[in-house]
Amino acid sequence: MKKLITFFIFLNFLSATAQGNLTITSSYPNNYFGNPLEIPMILSGTFGELRPNHFHAGLDIKTEQREGLNVLASANGYVSRIKISHWGYGKAIYVTHPNGYTTVYAHVQKFNDRIETYLKDHQYKKESFEIELFPLASDLPISKGEIIAFSGSTGGFSGPHLHFEIRDSKTEKTINPMLFGIEIADAKKPTIKTLIGYSLAENSHINGLAVPVQLSYRKLTNGDFIANKISAIGSIGFGINATDQLDGAYNENGIYSLEMLVNGTLVHEFKATSTAFSEGRYINLLIDFERYVKLNQRIQKCFIEPSNKLNMYYNSVNNGFITIEDGLDYTVDIVVKDFKGNTQKVTIPVYGKKEETVIAASTKTTPYKIIATDFQKFNIDGVTIAFPKNTFYNDFYLDFEVNNGVAKVHTPTVPISDRYTLTFDVSNYSEAEKEKLYIASIQKNGNSDYESTVKKENSFYTSTKTLGNFKLLSDHTAPKISLLNFNNNQWLTNLNTLQVKISDQGSGINTYRGEIDGEWILMEYSVKNKTLTYNFSDKNFIDAKHELKVIVTDYVGNTSTLNATFFRKK
Ligand SMILES: [Zn+2]
Repeated sequence: MKKLITFFIFLNFLSATAQGNLTITSSYPNNYFGNPLEIPMILSGTFGELRPNHFHAGLDIKTEQREGLNVLASANGYVSRIKISHWGYGKAIYVTHPNGYTTVYAHVQKFNDRIETYLKDHQYKKESFEIELFPLASDLPISKGEIIAFSGSTGGFSGPHLHFEIRDSKTEKTINPMLFGIEIADAKKPTIKTLIGYSLAENSHINGLAVPVQLSYRKLTNGDFIANKISAIGSIGFGINATDQLDGAYNENGIYSLEMLVNGTLVHEFKATSTAFSEGRYINLLIDFERYVKLNQRIQKCFIEPSNKLNMYYNSVNNGFITIEDGLDYTVDIVVKDFKGNTQKVTIPVYGKKEETVIAASTKTTPYKIIATDFQKFNIDGVTIAFPKNTFYNDFYLDFEVNNGVAKVHTPTVPISDRYTLTFDVSNYSEAEKEKLYIASIQKNGNSDYESTVKKENSFYTSTKTLGNFKLLSDHTAPKISLLNFNNNQWLTNLNTLQVKISDQGSGINTYRGEIDGEWILMEYSVKNKTLTYNFSDKNFIDAKHELKVIVTDYVGNTSTLNATFFRKK
């Protein structure tokens, strides 16, 4: 029997490999994957959409503002992964198919009975709500169209929707589900909202300016846009903010492709086809990051800087950098399309002309110059920052100050590729004070966020991808726990769930544990609602008196315990 299984796995491996090679030359299999919902497919998020520090990896399908809709398996296969987390995908299920692809269904409320039983069995064994499981192919086989889950809004803070992905099972690269023939109605063309010109070399300028210039444009009778003629010299580039609206959706989504042509020649092409999670951070090089941080607007650049290794670029001439020569005329066309091919174009006439007065971009110099390819370490007044090689994509002057205990590590306007270490010397604090201390990042609005703090004698440090202000804070307040849907000493025979509310001021909730009569119970933590919920369908606890105990700990170790008594009869 064992030999037979090995043989089948080998066969699967062979077909997966063949499929993988096929995809290089041919297109993705069409009509293999069915819709995961039984309602019309209306999206609140498209594949490749620009999100904070990542590209959206799938489709966000609207669920009519409701939860509990049937989620159907897109094709035959088996459950290869179940992941339950407080954040991100919430409750997510992965189904691996024999054709080399895996579909992912995230933010669901719960799974079907067969999968729930499998999952809860492991959660009770591990005594943890958060869990990640990789079932064997024989554990949970799935048929196409089978109800595998019910839609929800678990993880993060978004409203009810289903996040649906198609991945290459082997590489885990996510692929635009629309390439597999998943049909989304879309008759409207994309919109271009902002157009920016960039001077990309020392002596270049646009309209006499060396700083980014917002260009004005107007609509022609045929629906295309035309920009006012600009004068420029040297190496320049362009960027746009563009969105697309799908049928039946009021929200704005991402575009599918972006092309730039100079005098009719294609010099830049982006297509939201497929991406690896490891490429996510390149989004901060794809967009004008500084403008995004300052104005919360994403300008997609039509040029590719050397450190940008994103794989969603196709045809390119000189990486989209355009060289403008004195006395010559150029026509630059930027063409934006949605997946259905609806097109919006903007034409920018350019005249090559050396201007006399050029307002140059000002560069602030500081004693802390970052050489992106070097390891670097700086210290002021007991605060040390250490940047491993390639923490940043480019060289720049880092703004670093320490004032009244607040460490300013630049501003979040520079894209960061990886973590760096921020260390506070805490030798001035007593042992008792040190116990309650943690490193916090301070937001613009003055709110503080706990940064995972490692305490090593007189050095407290954090490893972070955040730039901005940091401070040592102390937390002397224990978490709060209160009963939500029942009172102490109550008969709860008609209740299906037990709910308590938990919160913490300061460092935030780190761990929680629920017990009934000394036995661990599965309490689902909703970060959004600040609730812990026990479902009596796990175990009924009838026959009279029971004791509930809930213990919650914050990040510096302050602990609260709630004890309550309840009664149930059958
Ligand atoms: Zn999503």
